[in-house]
Amino acid sequence: MKFDDILILDWSAAKEPKRGKDSVWIGHAGAGATAPVNPVTRSEAMALLRGRIATARAAGRRVLVGADFPFGYPKGFAWSLTGREGALALWSWFAREVEDADNNANNRFELAARINRSFPGLGPFWGRPAGLDLPDLPEKGSHRHSVPFPERRQVEAREPKAQPVWKLYTTGSVGSQAMLGIARLAALKAELGDDCAVWPFEPTEHAGVVLAEVWPSLLASEVKALQDRYSCQDEAQVDLLAKALTNLSSEDLSDLMQPEADQDILTEEGWILGAGRAALLRQGLVKDLPDLVPPRLRNDCFAMPQGVDWMPVDLALDRLNAALAPVTTIETVQIAKAGGRVLAADAIARRANPPHANSAVDGYGFAHSSLTGDGPFTLPLAEGRAAAGQPFGGHVAPGQAIRILTGAILPDGVDTVVLEEDCATDGGRVAFDGPMKPRINTRKAGEDMAEGQLALAAGHRLSAPDLALLSALGLGTVQVFRRLRVAVLSTGDELVADPGAIADPHQIYDANRPMLLELARRWGYDAVDLGHVGDDPKKISQKLNQGARTADVILTSGGASAGDEDHVSRLLRTKGDLTSWRIAMKPGRPLALALWQGVPVLGLPGNPVAAFVCALIFGRPALARLAGGRFDMPKGFTVPAAFSKSKKAGRREYLRARLTGEGTAEVFRSEGSGRISGLSWADGLVELPDQAAEIIPGSPVRFIPFGNFGL
Ligand code: AMP
Ligand code: MG
Repeated sequence: MKFDDILILDWSAAKEPKRGKDSVWIGHAGAGATAPVNPVTRSEAMALLRGRIATARAAGRRVLVGADFPFGYPKGFAWSLTGREGALALWSWFAREVEDADNNANNRFELAARINRSFPGLGPFWGRPAGLDLPDLPEKGSHRHSVPFPERRQVEAREPKAQPVWKLYTTGSVGSQAMLGIARLAALKAELGDDCAVWPFEPTEHAGVVLAEVWPSLLASEVKALQDRYSCQDEAQVDLLAKALTNLSSEDLSDLMQPEADQDILTEEGWILGAGRAALLRQGLVKDLPDLVPPRLRNDCFAMPQGVDWMPVDLALDRLNAALAPVTTIETVQIAKAGGRVLAADAIARRANPPHANSAVDGYGFAHSSLTGDGPFTLPLAEGRAAAGQPFGGHVAPGQAIRILTGAILPDGVDTVVLEEDCATDGGRVAFDGPMKPRINTRKAGEDMAEGQLALAAGHRLSAPDLALLSALGLGTVQVFRRLRVAVLSTGDELVADPGAIADPHQIYDANRPMLLELARRWGYDAVDLGHVGDDPKKISQKLNQGARTADVILTSGGASAGDEDHVSRLLRTKGDLTSWRIAMKPGRPLALALWQGVPVLGLPGNPVAAFVCALIFGRPALARLAGGRFDMPKGFTVPAAFSKSKKAGRREYLRARLTGEGTAEVFRSEGSGRISGLSWADGLVELPDQAAEIIPGSPVRFIPFGNFGL
């Protein structure tokens, strides 16, 4: 289903000429697109609409006109009022009975009162201005009684916020618009004759002009996001809805035009185009949405809780989690390019997997009810076959079987498949043994995932299998967070940045920076190398400025404790709201946390072993959270120790460890914080709890492989 022009009508039941908010607006997207227009009366609006339709049709273009009022009434009303079935009977009735003058003066309340009089009880219509004396039209809905019709249409169960048609007056009502709008569209339809069809009352394939009921609230969040480009909400609604529908593929639009509802309900009550399918409709606007900019972190976000001196690791993690929030903007990317990215919105199945019941094997399909007894069975073979991508269009009669291949949609009349290897065939018949369970070797439609089901939640980082899943569910693009940019800075007068350069005896090579940059890359971020800087506050400050400009978060190493030479902490304390968390953990000294020009800074210890462990334990979840993901703890498992150790109470300890061939954990021979070779030797960490522990060979200890830290 494709339209060249899409016109959206935001209707109004105003009783006087009116412009601006709550008056008639017309949006126009597609071939004849213009900015929304705001005719002052309904007559003028119809004249304008007729003009646009005539221009489009003269050029051979197809037109969809969406109008934002109900096209039908709850079941039973049309017949009771007109003596004929179907909404179009009501359309003719309203076209005859509604009076709506060129100056917007109209008889809607009087007509509603008259309709009410023709039914027993009081109602169904209600709502009128307080001064209007119409005893048959109650002022409040609760004054009605013995109303013989349902309160709501079925489509309103899908969209519970849509207002019932019986309500004619006050906030959000649509009843008056429906009456006046239907009368106007019925006249338009009569003029256009066979070239015009009303969806979903009539077939629309051959119509040059299709009229359909729409409901702009389906795009409420998009309207809100883009509101400030328009003079009022009504203008935003007509423009965005017209654009959203225009941007849909013809398959998606056809899909929207085939709602899952009973035909008699569709022809009598009508339907809202896109009801229950807002996600699909919204896809049409994704590229128009501005980037979402997350709020900045608060200045005091890292404040130490009162009375805490040494902070236990778990408390520090909880505080860090609470302090941090995603800091990157959101963008839409194609699935094939989304690996490693973090979902910024829930990914919802656009299509079921599998979309249709199909065969799980190569074999022969038939109706299970064709079999009687336990077998063996012989069934004649129907002409043709069903294969993946080549569905069998016909019907397989009871008692017949058909050749079917893996992945083929089960043909009409087939619910069970027998495996090819279990069959004998001469080309005309197939024989197999029983007993045979019903539906065996078939896959149910949606057995993996149903349409509309949550596939992956926001915050999830996309893996290779996730790309398979989202593709299978018909998602072409996903909303993800822009990749986090992580800047890394080393500080210390003793450091030589380039390991290939000559170093004086008092100098050491910068080991932390390449390590931390590589960690950032491994975790899926853009690593920004800020290089190395001596213990000079002015230069450190320049580097931090550079980091705040080019990255979303800064990792520093060295100079982070309270010692005299620890310029990073001194600088951050005076200019960056530094908080040093004294964490009860070994290895690791205080973790420095600060905001530099609004950008979070994580100050890691200088010792490479401590820098590495702190990066794994605190840096990894913190960066994940800033990147829009979850603040996850790595999974570990319990193994017997292959070492002895007497551990003091009051701090958590991480030992460089690896698994032996027997599945026990051995630890590096030295716990020295400068022993970088121990990090290379290890393939994980042993985590010893905060309490005291006497560990001997065989004691259970928790081992966390580096792989579980995402390495
Ligand atoms: P600091 O945290 O600055 O007191 O440094 C603690 C220890 O780590 C000192 O021995 C430093 O020389 C050493 N260190 C600091 N930064 C680095 C680095 N980037 N690479 C290797 N060692 C470092
Ligand atoms: Mg230093």
